[in-house]
Amino acid sequence: MTMLSMSTHPSDETLSRLADQSELERMRSRAGRHLARCERCRGEIAAIAALGDAARALPEPALPASLRARVDERRQGEGSGVAPRPPMPTGGPAP
Ligand SMILES: [Zn+2]
Repeated sequence: MTMLSMSTHPSDETLSRLADQSELERMRSRAGRHLARCERCRGEIAAIAALGDAARALPEPALPASLRARVDERRQGEGSGVAPRPPMPTGGPAP
């Protein structure tokens, strides 16, 4: 088994893990120390971090069509046995 040389960039997986770590945590690992010296990998981390923020900012994924159909079906089933609600009075005549 050969040692990783400093010229070897950490894998994407390692970089994405480092992206979640603090500066201190990074310095404990070889990849983190590489990062401190490697402009290219710092750029990668910045990109990964930006991606992570973007992913978190995304709204919840829409329900799959099949699941939505099942939910609609159940709603209709529930409605059939129950008496319809009386319409709410929407503001009577003015006093
Ligand atoms: Zn690098």
